[in-house]
Amino acid sequence: MQMASALAMEATRRRPKSSSNSLAPEVIEEHAGQWGRAWEVDWFSLSGVLLLLLTAPFQVFFFVMACDQYQCSVTQPLVQLYSGEATLSSIWAKAPSFSWTAAQIYTAWVSFQVVLYMCVPDVTHKFLPGYAGGVQEGARTPAGLINKYEINGLQSWLITHALWYANAHYFHWFSPTIIFDNWIPLLWCTNILGYSVSFFAFIKAYLFPTNAEDCKFTGNVFYNFMMGIEFNPRIGKWFDFKLFFNGRPGIVAWTLINLSYAAKQQELYGHVTNSMIIVNVLQGIYVLDFFWNEAWYLKTIDICHDHFGWYLGWGDCVWLPFLYTLQGLYLVYHPVQLSNAHAVAVLTLGLVGYYIFRSANHQKDLFRRTEGKCSIWGKKPTFIECAYRSADGSLHHSKLMTSGFWGVARHLNYTGDLMGSLAYCLACGFGHVHPYFYIVYMTILLVHRCVRDEHRCSSKYGKDWKRYTDAVPYRLLPGMF
Ligand code: NDP
Repeated sequence: MQMASALAMEATRRRPKSSSNSLAPEVIEEHAGQWGRAWEVDWFSLSGVLLLLLTAPFQVFFFVMACDQYQCSVTQPLVQLYSGEATLSSIWAKAPSFSWTAAQIYTAWVSFQVVLYMCVPDVTHKFLPGYAGGVQEGARTPAGLINKYEINGLQSWLITHALWYANAHYFHWFSPTIIFDNWIPLLWCTNILGYSVSFFAFIKAYLFPTNAEDCKFTGNVFYNFMMGIEFNPRIGKWFDFKLFFNGRPGIVAWTLINLSYAAKQQELYGHVTNSMIIVNVLQGIYVLDFFWNEAWYLKTIDICHDHFGWYLGWGDCVWLPFLYTLQGLYLVYHPVQLSNAHAVAVLTLGLVGYYIFRSANHQKDLFRRTEGKCSIWGKKPTFIECAYRSADGSLHHSKLMTSGFWGVARHLNYTGDLMGSLAYCLACGFGHVHPYFYIVYMTILLVHRCVRDEHRCSSKYGKDWKRYTDAVPYRLLPGMF
């Protein structure tokens, strides 16, 4: 708290008197409309893109196959390959193949989510106090547009889970272990959708973009394919690719996948372990938080800065449902029962992480919505005034808060997220490294995101961003990084 106040005072001292003189006109001009995704690709970025395109699908296969064939050991397949005991083709041959049953399940699943998304306008916002659903506006795009979205993710999640519950307890149309039982065949189906959507979005950007002004062509085909060309591709007025694929079918599925793992534990061992319950509860809170705040997510980097390409299309269809759920999968093969002390410690870490994550995000949202006319930690927030231009040349003003969590470090919401992610992994005990992949991945993702976001903000706000980083010098860990 003390540190936050000191930083806030520093920020107030440095704050310019008005936004109009906070950035020299020539600097604003230079940055006009240049703050979205890169226009030019350097060799470093291109190498990263190629590496990911070539390896990411195999990484997903590796982690899922390791459980299926090696009891979730990630070293054993490598040792067997090294010693010649196994070959890539023998491992591949042992993996369950594509099946029409999985294709039917997945088609029904995606179609159902499309119907919920497109045909069931939100009613939950009418009776849930504090929930922002229904038609909402997104952030201003680099071309200066403000898109409208139908926010009905919470409703879709509730309907889907009510049906899942009704099936498990009353109707018995299918087994609650259905997802686990078809896991690798489903991997092939999600890949078909992920690649189809990515190629479609790529071709659409050339032939019939939704808004040509918000397209970015870098001249490098691989970068364009992976990072996307169109900013907000849509079909018709309402089918928004980013909103649909970002939240559904992957994130609605996340909690169902975990429930399916818990059901499998019950079937195999006759009980569900406390570790599985903790993973279900912590990740369930995270997913529900996502849908409760879906309107707020319209202002996050995924929706308001990233273009739609393979990174989001394939990532949301394949990477997210398979790798964000590794802990539950691991616990099916290793039913860890934690001691009470371990369970309480993990739960506490997860809940404290969630509290920081949610509070930091909430503070920024409140600050931006009220344009600084609010109370943060019982005081008027301090901030730095900023100015920037969109591609059409219009001048806009913004504020960067320097109090609350945002005065402690520039991305404390990421720190909270990382604490929660670590808790999911620690719930799996210390038998294998497999479930710890998630924390390694999230650390890389969020550190990279910090750098990416700061590069963008620096291009957008110029010297004002520098004043902000001087006032709040640390990114994730005060005093360290
Ligand atoms: P943020 O919510 O941190 O948004 C960053 C943007 O906020 C900046 O680009 C800037 O936008 C604005 N901003 C930055 N500093 C300030 C400030 N001091 N005051 C006011 N506005 C500021 O990032 P994300 O969108 O990446 O993340 C949202 C949440 O989603 C995070 O909590 C993250 O942990 C989580 N997340 C989770 C992922 C997962 O896979 N589980 C993946 C990605 C994110 P502007 O241009 O408007 O100024």
